[in-house]
Amino acid sequence: MENLTFGIIKPDAVKAGTIGSIIQRITDDGFRIRALKLIHMTLKQAEGFYAVHRERPFFPGLTEFMSSGPCVVMALEKTGAVPAWRNLMGATDPAKADEGTLRKAFGGSLGENAVHGSDSDENAAIEIAYFFSQIEIV
Ligand code: ATP
Ligand code: MG
Repeated sequence: MENLTFGIIKPDAVKAGTIGSIIQRITDDGFRIRALKLIHMTLKQAEGFYAVHRERPFFPGLTEFMSSGPCVVMALEKTGAVPAWRNLMGATDPAKADEGTLRKAFGGSLGENAVHGSDSDENAAIEIAYFFSQIEIV
């Protein structure tokens, strides 16, 4: 699975109407979209997704935000997909993100930073399986 990663266009970016711009940037950067859908997570589903951050002080705010509206979940393919997608996303805090990154262009704050990306091949596989069944990956 080392050529696959998992991404989310978060509720802030969906609300801002930038789904189309972000998907254009993803395909322009050479990713192949293997799965994609619009979902609206319940609080429980967001808590399950971000379970690794359960003990962090920002966990309640993060899960409330991620369940506050629809988001787009995606499985993305590229050589070295995990680091490639994190490079395109930019730093977690949009204020520190490099020019040309998605978080620089579309992120509003540390908490509402437009996109998510897996941090390892192992987590990419877990996260893709959390949202997509085998038949939804093309
Ligand atoms: P993501 O997992 O969403 O791709 P990331 O891997 O860059 O982001 P993580 O450390 O995994 O960053 O944090 C997950 C999310 O939690 C961040 O995207 C951000 O929205 C939020 N977050 C992280 N640190 C803070 C913080 N100190 N205050 C508020 N929110 C935070
Ligand atoms: Mg992370």
